[in-house]
Amino acid sequence: MATATPQPPSKNRNQWLLSLFLFVALLFGAIYTITNPKREEDKLFANAAEVPLSQITKGYNKEQFTKILVKDNKVFAISQDNTAIQSYKETLDSVSTLGWNNPENPTIVEIENREATNLLMAILPDILFLVLIIGGLLWLFRGIARSQSNAMSFGKSRARIADATQVKTRFKDVAGVEEAKEDLEEVVDFLKFPKKYINLGAKIPKGVLLVGAPGTGKTLLARAVAGEAGVPFFSIAGSEFVEMFVGVGASRVRDLFTKAKRNAPCIIFIDEIDAVGRQRGGAGFGGGHDEREQTLNQILTEMDGFEQETNVIVIAATNRPDVLDRALLRPGRFDRRIFIDRPDLEARKKILKVHSKNKKVSSNLNLEQIAKQTVGLTGADLENIMNEAAIFAARRKRKNVVQQDLVDAVEKVTIGPEKKSRKLTEKEKKITAYHELGHAIVGYQCPESDPLHKISIVSRGTALGVTWFLPNEDQYTTCKAKFLDEICGLLGGRAAEEIVFGEITTGASNDIERASQIARDMAMRFGMGDDNLGPVSYGEKQGTMFLGVDPAVSRNFSESIAKEIDSFVLNTLRSEYNRAKGIIEKERKKLDSLAEVLLKKETMSLEEFEKIFVGEKTRNK
Ligand code: ADP
Ligand code: MG
Ligand code: ZN
Repeated sequence: MATATPQPPSKNRNQWLLSLFLFVALLFGAIYTITNPKREEDKLFANAAEVPLSQITKGYNKEQFTKILVKDNKVFAISQDNTAIQSYKETLDSVSTLGWNNPENPTIVEIENREATNLLMAILPDILFLVLIIGGLLWLFRGIARSQSNAMSFGKSRARIADATQVKTRFKDVAGVEEAKEDLEEVVDFLKFPKKYINLGAKIPKGVLLVGAPGTGKTLLARAVAGEAGVPFFSIAGSEFVEMFVGVGASRVRDLFTKAKRNAPCIIFIDEIDAVGRQRGGAGFGGGHDEREQTLNQILTEMDGFEQETNVIVIAATNRPDVLDRALLRPGRFDRRIFIDRPDLEARKKILKVHSKNKKVSSNLNLEQIAKQTVGLTGADLENIMNEAAIFAARRKRKNVVQQDLVDAVEKVTIGPEKKSRKLTEKEKKITAYHELGHAIVGYQCPESDPLHKISIVSRGTALGVTWFLPNEDQYTTCKAKFLDEICGLLGGRAAEEIVFGEITTGASNDIERASQIARDMAMRFGMGDDNLGPVSYGEKQGTMFLGVDPAVSRNFSESIAKEIDSFVLNTLRSEYNRAKGIIEKERKKLDSLAEVLLKKETMSLEEFEKIFVGEKTRNK
């Protein structure tokens, strides 16, 4: 891939350094010459007696002098006894007209242009100064000229262009999104054999919209389409269209489509199109709104303007299809929408496999186990896990990545890195152990809770300890009982603290926050509140303006409903807290023996937990 302005930055810099060096060298030379101590002769000449010129000529002829020195119109003569006399000559008098050029005469006659040299030396700094100023001005002008040419290219698209041979991504690099790949296979076929479709009178789709959470592989898929079809790939992010000035986006769009048409067949990929493709109209957010609207209009116009023969397909990606302008989704524009889900178990296994290919991994890795532990993670997360595992392996000086590295990487990515350096006091450690075991026991005893996986009292991120439940794979809906069990489990930590230590700590603040949010959602979003709330959705989401900030929820219900919601939340949390306390009190003895082991080992797997909690038997729900 090449960016639009390939400027080797070092060249200019080197030139600049070279001139700086030359300048400094000259300056030193000048200073040295100017401050050079006057020579011996100068002292001699300073108090030389003045004589008529003819006397010097006479002395020359008598060979009285060792040396005659001519400096401009001044003439100095040095005698054998090292005294000097001086005189003046006419400007036009030369050594020969004065007759001082007798080859038999041993007197040295020297013509020195010291004055002139000195003059040069005197004005040298001025010259240098001038040169410096002129150079500086030139440099400035060049900068201005360059920035002007930048302004001129404002309207040019910033698209990165990868030509057909540069796109190395293929469908095999994208794992586990079989349906999306099937749909895109068709697009590849359109690009490769357009005639087949045109002959039958079928319209080739112009736009494909990839919809999916961040990191699910949308960008990767778009590249793979280009790679499979062997066509150039123009990629640009929606936000890159938008600049400070209104109209720039639109002209960039024009430029991009012109370039693309020249390179047809090809793919234009607009990443994060929601940056420009949001619902038009509505409350403005400064001038940026207008600009987006114009840019979007231009995209639509360009797509409408494709003739049937122009084989350019626009692929756009977004994770916010809900905010897209409906005009974008009209037939003839992005009429094909491909949804990319978060990968399921099988897909996660395949993605891990793909990303283990370019790493040195042990041959008996159990990727299935890792896939099971990563419910809800995206392809990007899994790639990150593979990479972290390789880093672990390198740090542990292994030849290849083993299962333990992967397991640690999962924990690091999902919960945060271990903070072994954070030293807890014995008391804090004990409270943490009981708190986490409280979560574990209550969660274990609640039938709808996610299965327990691991307990740890090693600090990670901001958490002092972690009780890890593995979410169930294929659950797309949640029943009320599960919500209640979740709340109960969250409050289990606090319940254990209260029962064991008779006091409560701030360690449970996050649990309480989450439990409250679940209860509030039950009442406001899922119609699971009390009878007098009914199956009604409360609170209205305000459209987001920018940057995917969570929409503010405005109150569209009465004061009395607000009271009902609050009392539902309060009652739910209270009763679940009591339920949690009941469970802990019943299992108090086991809690103590579990805490003893956990404090010693710091982490505890499900097997170790069950060994103490249910004996050798396994859990039967
Ligand atoms: P998006 O554009 O949806 O936010 P990307 O396509 O940029 O996500 O994905 C980020 C990275 O995650 C990719 O470069 C790739 O390495 C990895 N990745 C995501 N999904 C997959 C997948 N299905 N198969 C293989 N790798 C994937
Ligand atoms: Mg992307
Ligand atoms: Zn907790």
